[in-house]
Amino acid sequence: MKIDLSPRWGGVLFWLSGLLVLALLLLLAELGLERSWQQARQLRLQQHDYYLSRLEQQLQHTLAAVQLDVSRLATSPLLQRYLRRQDADTLELLEQSYLALARLRPSYDQIRLLDAQGQERIRINQLASGTSHVVPEAQLQNKADRYYVVAGLALPAGTRYLSPLDLNIERGQIETPYKPMLRMVMPVYQAAQLRGLIVINYRGAELLQNLAQALPAPFSPLLLNDQGHWLLGGQDRDWQFMFTDRTGLAVELPQQWAQMQATDSGNLSAGTDCLVYAWTRFGEGPVQAPRWLLGLREPGQTCDALEREYQMRTDRTLLAGGLAGLALLGARHLVRRRQLKLHRQIADSEQQLRLITHEAGNGLIMVDAHGHTRWLNPEAERLLGWREAELLGENLHEMIHIGPDGQVLHPDECPTHRALRTGQRQQGQRDFFRTRGGHILPVHATVTPMPKGPYTGGAVISFGDDTDHLAAENHLRRQATTDELTGCLNRRATLQQLERSIDTGTAFGVIMIDLDYFKQINDEYGHPVGDRVLAFYTQEVRELLRSQDTFGRIGGEEFLVLVEHLQADDLLQLAERIRHRFDTRCCPIDGPESTQRLHVTASFGTAMHQPGESTSALLARADRALYWAKDSGRNRVVAADNAPALSAID
Ligand code: GH3
Ligand code: MG
Ligand code: MG
Repeated sequence: MKIDLSPRWGGVLFWLSGLLVLALLLLLAELGLERSWQQARQLRLQQHDYYLSRLEQQLQHTLAAVQLDVSRLATSPLLQRYLRRQDADTLELLEQSYLALARLRPSYDQIRLLDAQGQERIRINQLASGTSHVVPEAQLQNKADRYYVVAGLALPAGTRYLSPLDLNIERGQIETPYKPMLRMVMPVYQAAQLRGLIVINYRGAELLQNLAQALPAPFSPLLLNDQGHWLLGGQDRDWQFMFTDRTGLAVELPQQWAQMQATDSGNLSAGTDCLVYAWTRFGEGPVQAPRWLLGLREPGQTCDALEREYQMRTDRTLLAGGLAGLALLGARHLVRRRQLKLHRQIADSEQQLRLITHEAGNGLIMVDAHGHTRWLNPEAERLLGWREAELLGENLHEMIHIGPDGQVLHPDECPTHRALRTGQRQQGQRDFFRTRGGHILPVHATVTPMPKGPYTGGAVISFGDDTDHLAAENHLRRQATTDELTGCLNRRATLQQLERSIDTGTAFGVIMIDLDYFKQINDEYGHPVGDRVLAFYTQEVRELLRSQDTFGRIGGEEFLVLVEHLQADDLLQLAERIRHRFDTRCCPIDGPESTQRLHVTASFGTAMHQPGESTSALLARADRALYWAKDSGRNRVVAADNAPALSAID
């Protein structure tokens, strides 16, 4: 189905479909960008998770080693023996074993055994230089008022306590350089009775260093206590909480801090950095430990950097794509308008052309370069009986062109094909077209090729009905060869046929006929009766001949019959049959109803053509035979072979 839209609606449809396609393309581009952004974002999140888990592992692993040591000390058989005996030897053995452990663990600042009242019993101090020593009994102190001692003495058996991470304080002063410190405490029980505490002061510097080493550049670790105070990664704000309360995330980013406290993990942007965090607590099982905020800093990349970049790129792409698409649509629109204008002009021209051809007296058919019909005018429709729609796109030659015999014509003989092939005008040719009803229509046609071009080419066939012309031609031709009175061939045509037969070399013979005493008929009944007699007997003779035999009037009352492919006897028999017809038929004098009839006879001379014999020689022999027939009484047939020589006749 073909829908014709007005140019206005066509334009609206063009813009609607164009904008729809553009929107779809932009949507696809946006989806593609979002997909790649999602992948990059996923990758970044996975990276963050992975590094965070490495930090967590490092923290747990480092502190687990301290916990193992404190557990071994608190449950050691030697300590149990000392608690039972309280002897100096065992105490010394214990001191030595603690000293050995201190040497193995450079990050242990102190290893201590306290009794249930908080009094130090053994104390190993390790100096920054790495040397460790047993503190003399006189210098041992009671630490019952210390928070970690209070917490440790309140623990049930098998439980451990890990202090918050802070800076070491010596004699009321924060030790410098800063010495981050953790205290791992485990109560010592004997027979379900609390007997004391093992306390290991662990230098946090090792833990902080391990955390830093767990991450590749440019990532750096973060560690904050549950108050949001910086322990690591806060740059100049690390350890500030030891001096003032007005520090840490609660002060820097109060809103985010509230959110961080409420969630297990997350991230937030600080300046140009992204901070990724998760709450953690050391150990599993029976251990009291502070909550820390463990995390990492990705510098120069806010957490939403990828999203912002994606947004920016999407905006840019959509804007650029949209503008480019609109520009293209606009350009296409202009081209389309131009095309429409051209089409309108062409349609107008075609309309005008049709009007002209409509009025043209000739049939006009236009074919393309392949001989396929493009249009025909009403006169062509009238002459051929085909309607334009039936012939459009059809091969014109195959459809209507035929030879005079009604047979298919080879394309080489087709003037349209010739014109298309040679580019030469084919003028005024006699052609035959088959009409829709199957009639053969003689036409005179002129084929004019059109200039060749990418959109042009082909040819115009102008033709007119040639039926009358052809009939007139045929009539003239017939007149030129026919005897008017009898309808036989005239003398010239008869002799021409005789020559043709000689030329083709076929065997043939002739019968020369001359009516007897014809002059008397003219004299007695008048010339018109003589004419009627000639016409009557001519018809009689024709009835005895075949269509391929030649029958011509070669003189006033003289005729010649030419018969091919027969023997001399057959020729004689035929002549005899004709003679017999003359002799037995009478000609009515005043038309067919006339009762008065004339009996007219004729004489016959026959001759078979002899190889190499000329027309005149053959006719002379037949004439001689005829003469002999006359001479010997008329109404008879004489063959040339039986005729005596002329001299004999004379
Ligand atoms: P023969 O038996 O010897 O042939 O005698 P004939 O009278 O037939 O021969 P002749 O040659 O003496 O006469 C021929 C006549 O034929 C003379 C002429 O008037 C007549 N004739 C020739 N042409 C025509 C014609 O067209 N119409 C008529 N009515 N007569 C013609
Ligand atoms: Mg004669
Ligand atoms: Mg005669």
